[in-house]
Amino acid sequence: MPKHLAPSAKRVSKTEKLRSLRERRVKEEPEAEKRRLPLLDALERARYLPIVLPALLLIAAAFLPLEGWMRPAVYAVPFLLAYAPIVLASVNGIRERRFLSNEQLTVAAGVLLFACGLYTESVLLAILFAASKLLEEYLLADSQKAMDKVLGMLPDKALVMGEDGPELRDPREVVPGDILFIPAGERIPVDGVITEGITTIDTAAVSGQRSPWAVNEGYRVYSGCMNLTSDIKIRATKPFDQSAAGSICRIAQEAADFNSEQENQARRFNSFYVLGVVALAVVTGLVLPLFKGNWLSHLCRAAALLIAARPAAEAFSIPLAYRKGLALSAKNGVFSKGEDCFESMARSDTVVFDKTGTITEGRFSVTDVVPNQMSEHKLLVIAAAAESFSRHPVAQAIREAAGEIDKRVLQVIKVKETPGKGVCAFVGERQVYVGNAEFLQEHGIRCPVPKRMGTAAHVSLDGMYCGHILMTDKVRRRAFDALEGLRVNGVDKLVLLTGDVLSAARPLASKLNFDMLRAELKPEDKAKAVDYLMQNKGDRSCVAFVGDGENDGKIMSLADVGIAMGVLGSDAALAAADVLIMDRDIMKVPRTVALSRLIYQVSLQNMVGGSGFSLVLVLFGLLGVFSPLVVEILSFVLAATVLLNTLRIRSDGR
Ligand code: ADP
Ligand code: MG
Repeated sequence: MPKHLAPSAKRVSKTEKLRSLRERRVKEEPEAEKRRLPLLDALERARYLPIVLPALLLIAAAFLPLEGWMRPAVYAVPFLLAYAPIVLASVNGIRERRFLSNEQLTVAAGVLLFACGLYTESVLLAILFAASKLLEEYLLADSQKAMDKVLGMLPDKALVMGEDGPELRDPREVVPGDILFIPAGERIPVDGVITEGITTIDTAAVSGQRSPWAVNEGYRVYSGCMNLTSDIKIRATKPFDQSAAGSICRIAQEAADFNSEQENQARRFNSFYVLGVVALAVVTGLVLPLFKGNWLSHLCRAAALLIAARPAAEAFSIPLAYRKGLALSAKNGVFSKGEDCFESMARSDTVVFDKTGTITEGRFSVTDVVPNQMSEHKLLVIAAAAESFSRHPVAQAIREAAGEIDKRVLQVIKVKETPGKGVCAFVGERQVYVGNAEFLQEHGIRCPVPKRMGTAAHVSLDGMYCGHILMTDKVRRRAFDALEGLRVNGVDKLVLLTGDVLSAARPLASKLNFDMLRAELKPEDKAKAVDYLMQNKGDRSCVAFVGDGENDGKIMSLADVGIAMGVLGSDAALAAADVLIMDRDIMKVPRTVALSRLIYQVSLQNMVGGSGFSLVLVLFGLLGVFSPLVVEILSFVLAATVLLNTLRIRSDGR
C-alpha cells in the first residue's frame, strides 16, 4: 500500500518490527552459542591461512614434475585447505535455508573445475573468493569501528551517592531519583537535574560538535555529555535506556535492521538472476553434451557460468554503503533510525520546514506591548501568569518580558493549552485567553489587526479584549546557506509551514527563497499540507519534513522521512522522527542529504555496474570466449571494484 494511504502504519510497523526483532534475538542468542562450530571458529581466527597456505602449495606444485594420478593427489591438498571454510559456510547456509549463496556456487564451480582437471583454476577460485570476502569484512569492520568509536564515547559507569559516599555502578542500574556524583572530566551517565554545583558541560559526544554550555542548580543535563570544569551532583530523572545516550545506542544498533528498498530490490533481482544462470549452467553442462558430446568442454563452460553468476559483491556492497553512512553521520551527531531513511532523503525533491524553532531560533523577544484599557505591565503579568506552564517559545518570551510575578496574588488554576493556538487559564477567579487572533475569535472575542509587524499574542480577561503583545524571532544563522545547500543537492521545492500570521512569515519566506508558504495553520492543517504534497509527488521522489519534533510527530510520520533538529532532551522528538539531529545546527540537514545522495549513487553504480558486468561474463563464459580462469579473475576484479567504490563515501557527501 502506498504510504500516504496508511499514515500511521509506518511508525507502528517499525516499532512492532523492532520489538519482534529484539525478542527473536534474545531467544536466538543462547542457541547461536551452541550452534557455533569449533572448526569454523578456529578457521575464523586464522583467517589468512585459507588464502596463504593453498597459494604457497599451488606455487610449489607448479614446479613439481607431476604425472598421472599424482597431479590430482597433490592438488587435492591445497584444494581441501582452500575449500574447507567455504564448504562449512555453504553447509551453514543450507541449514539456515539459504540456497544458491555465493559460497555454494563457488563450491559447485570449484568441484566441477577440479573434476575437469583444471586443478589450478579450481584452487585459485577459492583463494580469490576468500580474498574478496576478506576485503568486504575489512571494510565492514571499518564502519563498525567508526560506529563503536561514537558509542564508545558514551558513559559506562555511574557514581551513585550511597550512605558512605559515592558507589561505582553500571549506568543501567541507576534508577530515577538516585543522586549521582559527577566529577569534573567525567561523562554524565543518565539524564538528570543538577542538585549541587556550577559547571560547564560539553555535548560533543552526542551532538558531534563541541559546544560548551554553562549550567547550575536546577538545569537539566543529558547522559553522554561531558562535565568539563567542576564536580556536580545530579538527581537522575530517567533510567539509562531512556536517557539520551541509551536511546542513541539503541537507535544506532537497530538502524542496520531496516534495509533500504534498494537493497531489497537488489536481493530480489539477484535471486532471479542467479536462478536463471544456474539453470543455464545445468543445460550447458548436463543437457547439451547428451546431444553434442564433448563433456569436458561443456562442463568447463558450466563452471564458468556458475562463477560469473555469483551475485559477486553488488548485493553486499549496498549494506556496506549504508552501514558506512550510519557511522559517518553518527560521528556528526546525526542518528538515523534505519538505512531506509538515507534512501528517502536521497530521493527527496520536496523538503518541508516548520518555521518556529526550525528555520527560526524559536527564541522570541517582545518588541511591543499594546494594552487596551490597562497598563502595559498589567497586560504582561496577566499573560505571563496564564502562560506559566507552557513550553511554547511565545510563552517563554512573555514570561521573560514580565519578569518575576507574585504567584500568591496571581494563582493559576485549570490551564488548557491548544497546540498551534494558545492557552486558556484561570488566574485566580478570572478567565484568561492568550493566543493568536483565530483562537480568541473562536471564543467570541474580537481582535483588532495589529498595526505593527510581528507575531502577536492577543490577551483577553473574562471575555474582554485587553491588548496584544508583539514579538519577533531571529532567523537561524546559516538558514539561507542550508536551503541553498539543499537546492544544490537536487531539492527543487522548499516549503515553509507555520502557524504564525502571514505578515510575520511572508518576509521570511521571500528572504530565504522558499517556493511555497502556508501560514496561519493549525497542527492538523500542517498535516494536511504534508499529506497533499505526499499525494502529488512523483513516483520515485520523496517528501522530507524538518521540524523540532515537539508537536509535529504526526506530520513526521506522514512524510517519507521526518527529520528533527535539537533532539537532545526532547523525548517527543526522539520518538517521532526518523532522523535525529542532536543539536540545532541547520547545516546538518543539507549535509545529511548530500551524504544520503552519495550513498544512493554509489549503491546504484555498484548494482547496475556489477550486474551488467556479471551479465557480460555470463555471455562470454557461455560462448566459451573466456576460459574459467579469465572469468574467475575478472569476477574478482569486479567484486573488489564494487567494494572499493564504497570508499568514496565521505561524511561531507562530496
Ligand atoms: P509554528 O508553526 O511557527 O511552529 P506553532 O504551530 O507552534 O508555530 O504556533 C502557531 C501560533 O499559535 C503561534 O505563532 C502563536 O501565535 C500561537 N500559539 C501557540 N501556542 C501558544 C501559546 N502557548 N501562547 C500564545 N500563543 C500561542
Ligand atoms: Mg512549531
